[in-house]
Order: sequence, then C-alpha cells, then structure tokens
Amino acid sequence: MPEEVNKSECSGGIRMTRERVSADNKKVILNGRTVDVNQLVPIKYKWAWHYYLDGCANHWMPTEVSMQRDIEQWKNPSFFTEDERHVIKRVLGFFSTAETLVGNNIVLSIYKMVDNPECRQYLLRQAFEEAIHSHTFQYIVESLSLDESEIFNMYRENKEIYEKDEFSMSCTDGIIDESVDLSTKEGLQKFINNLVAFYVVTEGIFFYSGFVLMLSFGRQNRMPGVCEQIQYILRDESIHMNFGIELINTIIDENPYCWIPEFQDFLVKRIKKAVELECSYAQECLPRGVLGLNLPLLKEYIEYIADRRLEKLRLPRQYNSSNPFPWMSEVIDLKKEKNFFETRVTEYQTGGTLEW
Ligand code: MN
Ligand code: FE
Repeated sequence: MPEEVNKSECSGGIRMTRERVSADNKKVILNGRTVDVNQLVPIKYKWAWHYYLDGCANHWMPTEVSMQRDIEQWKNPSFFTEDERHVIKRVLGFFSTAETLVGNNIVLSIYKMVDNPECRQYLLRQAFEEAIHSHTFQYIVESLSLDESEIFNMYRENKEIYEKDEFSMSCTDGIIDESVDLSTKEGLQKFINNLVAFYVVTEGIFFYSGFVLMLSFGRQNRMPGVCEQIQYILRDESIHMNFGIELINTIIDENPYCWIPEFQDFLVKRIKKAVELECSYAQECLPRGVLGLNLPLLKEYIEYIADRRLEKLRLPRQYNSSNPFPWMSEVIDLKKEKNFFETRVTEYQTGGTLEW
C-alpha cells in the first residue's frame, strides 16, 4: 500500500521547518520527479551509499592504460586472422554506443523517478562512469586508428546490434516523456521494466558476450591495453548491475501491489527474449570458432548468467546451464594482486565484495 507521505518534505516547494528528516520516512520513490534539496543523511539505504563508495574506490581513466602493444599488434597484418579482427570490431561497435544508451537512461529517466538522495548519489557516480566508458571506446578507436564512423555507426548498420539497442530503447516509452504515473500499478511496472531492461539486460546480459570475447584475447596476451580497460569496465558494470537489482527489489518491497504473477511472467519472457538477441549477436560476431570459443559455449554462458540475474530478481531460473568460463568469475572477483593480464600492478580495492 502506498503510504501517506509528508508532501511538504518531498515535493516541489521548500518549506521552512525545524522538523528533522528521519531515515524511516525515506523511500526509493517518494514523490517521483522531485527537484528539491535532498538530505543525504540520515542514510536509510546503506547499500546505495556503499556502492557509491565502491565506485569511487575503483576510479580509473582509460588514458592511464598504455595502448602501445595493442597498436603494434593491430598494425601487424599477420597478427590477427580476419575472423579475429571481425570479432574485435563487433565488440567495439556494440560497446562504443551502448554506453551512451545507459548513461542517457540514467539521466533522462531513472534520476527523475528515483528521488531518494543516497540512490541519487550513486546514480550521479554511475552516470560519470558511463561517460568514462564512452571515453574508453573513443580512446581505443583513436589509438588503433580504426575507422571511427564504421565503429560508431555500427548500431545502425548491423542488425544484431540494432536489435539489442532497440530492445533497451523500447523500454523508455512513457518514462522519458514523463507520461507514466508512478502512483499507479501500471506506471510502476513500466518503470520497473525500464530498470530491468537497463540494469539486468543491457548491463547484465548484453555486455557479457563482448566481455568474454575480448577478455579471451587478453588471456593470450593479445590486445592487452583494450583488455585491461574492458576488465575495469566489467568491474564497474558488475557494481552497476548489483545496485540496479537492489534498487528494483527495494521498489518492489515498498510497493508489493505491483509485483503480481502476470508481471513476473512478463519480465521472464523479456529476459528470455534478451537471451535470444544476445545469442544472435554472439553468432554474428563469431561465425566460425576463434580463440577456442564457439557458439554453443557462448550460448551456455549467456544462459548461465541470465539464470543468475533471474534468481537475484527472485524470479525462476529458466536454463540450468553451467558456467563454461569459470575464469570470468576470477576476473570479476580479483582483489589486490598483479593485474590479470600482467600489464601493470593494479590495486583492486573492492572487487572481492562483488557478487555478480
Ligand atoms: Mn558502462
Ligand atoms: Fe554501466
């Protein structure tokens, strides 16, 4: 049941008062679309604050990573096969623009709807991280002297990338144009669907074939600079996704009337559709096996991570596949040790606390 809220504390106008904010009265979505002074403390959602601190502790910039060896390898005509070059370009093609999709949705939809200050603190951090990720692909494309229009326009020329982007974009209807009413069941469900499409599907499924494919080069000491950056992005993304799932589950707990079986089935179907799209993308990236990878293995991995996401959303598993790439969890879970790809010593400050 939506609780009574003190409108003067949360909506448009500021009111002069000696009444203090209590953590108990905070909600993730209090009034929706509040443009007000937010009191960060007392903090109610400690997870949001901790994800913010984790994000800050993991700060990095792409330009700190040397691209020298990558440039030498890429310029050497015999270093990569044509199939391998195709994989690398397809991965860069998807990531180069998908990062902006996520950043735009944070700023243009999520930030407006979620008015809890500690959640907003994290969203501001995440929005900056998405900018860093977009910067990363600009830096990679420039360093390798790739045809920038080929990479950055790929989402409009390649059907598999286009369909993934379309899937995410289709979940912004009524949210960005502000026609949804968050005080209704339908409105909240639309917003939850948007959060699932971005945090669970885009950041939690659509990025993962690219991570596996690119990091597989890194495991052979190929494209070490790109792979080091992808590793940092993966670490950031796993925090983004965990924050998002916690946000979704908290919204559901605070508004249980919207979490009905029909809506749960709808979300399961959407996630299964996303798995299909990701498998088509993986197939197009990888028409023939390279690097000891093939489509069945990638498909198994995509299904495996989709099941993990479903479980965290308290929805039923659909695939029961096992993890064919246990080394991926090692990449995510690395704490303080020599960098996985041995390019430099890296201080991993919080990686060990991450669940993915
Ligand atoms: Mn990102
Ligand atoms: Fe992200």
